[in-house]
Amino acid sequence: ERVGWAIVGLGHLSLEELLPAFGQSKRNKLVALVSGDRAKAQAVAKQYGVPDKGLYDYKTFDRLKDNPDVQVVYIVLPNSMHAEYTVRAAQAGKHVFCEKPMANTVAECQQMIDACKKADRKLGIAYRLQYEPHHRALIRMARDKELGTLKLFTADNGQNQGEPNQWRHKKALAGGGALPDVGIYCLNAARYLSGEEPIEVHGFSHSTPNDPRFKEVDEHFAFHLKFPSGFQANCTTSYSTHETKRMRLMGSDGWADMDPAFSYGGLRLRIATKSKAFPKADDTVERSFSQTSQFAREMDHFARCVQENTVPHTPGEEGLADMRIIEALYRSAREGRTVKLEAPKKLDAFR
Ligand code: NAD
Repeated sequence: ERVGWAIVGLGHLSLEELLPAFGQSKRNKLVALVSGDRAKAQAVAKQYGVPDKGLYDYKTFDRLKDNPDVQVVYIVLPNSMHAEYTVRAAQAGKHVFCEKPMANTVAECQQMIDACKKADRKLGIAYRLQYEPHHRALIRMARDKELGTLKLFTADNGQNQGEPNQWRHKKALAGGGALPDVGIYCLNAARYLSGEEPIEVHGFSHSTPNDPRFKEVDEHFAFHLKFPSGFQANCTTSYSTHETKRMRLMGSDGWADMDPAFSYGGLRLRIATKSKAFPKADDTVERSFSQTSQFAREMDHFARCVQENTVPHTPGEEGLADMRIIEALYRSAREGRTVKLEAPKKLDAFR
């Protein structure tokens, strides 16, 4: 029996990626939609075969409680709304899958975790790349020390956000600018590739004066993370550069390069290690894996957790861990100093 999902919010990500991904999903079916726009919801419902009784708006949302076809509620709303709708979904007795960034503050993340725990429901955060085969292969290589001891990581994730009047440019709705929206991919990768949590962070924020898009939120954010082993990550993120989505992991015996690394498809992974035959040369190989929908993969993983009653690979704690660092980075940028972080509880159990 497939797991029934309700999609909350019919914006770009839902319409262009998530709804089509149900077609590739092995364990899920789309059974409900939540939208403030009835006509849009009806048109989408018709296209995807969602019954009329599966249509809700933000006022009738809590009636999901009475719909036994819905097991998982997927929150795909502006960031500031993630906490409220996650808590309400849990109170309606549903498992919750929520888009990144998990919320706008650590306190909200904690409320979401607590609400799901109290309702005995699962909470998963949509870190699609942690389910993606190239990233998974690289995590495995890093753990198996195929690049030697991990030393350094650089990553850049930027895109040019055109439209000025969107929620992404309003601090109250977005929480911040490039950092929580796209910089989070660099941060999350530094954590899952190293398997460590940073103990010192430094951030630099910049917004071009008079650019209406960046009155409230950061245009660029550059940041540095230092980990207990001595591993360091140096990252940039931007809302005003043409798409750059790359990363490089450097170890004592080799490097791995991914460009693009953070897009929905077309990822390319190259690995260089010292040549055994020619000691002064490198063996550089490109490794390719399946590029089927990252969204279908993460949703299938979560469905399996629901069916088999296991802990999701990227639970609420994973979203909170990133938010804690994002808060520290904004404090660092504001105060112009390095911020130290206490080592948190180990998250390795989830990796
Ligand atoms: P979007 O603006 O295209 O869609 C947001 C939807 O929320 C719209 O349908 C809008 O009508 C609705 N909405 C409800 N109340 C609203 C309000 N008060 N103000 C504004 N909109 C409101 O955004 P999106 O790009 O689909 O992003 C939605 C979420 O998905 C965000 O949290 C974003 O970070 C995340 N996202 C994740 C990925 C990924 O790769 N995992 C990619 C894009 C977006």
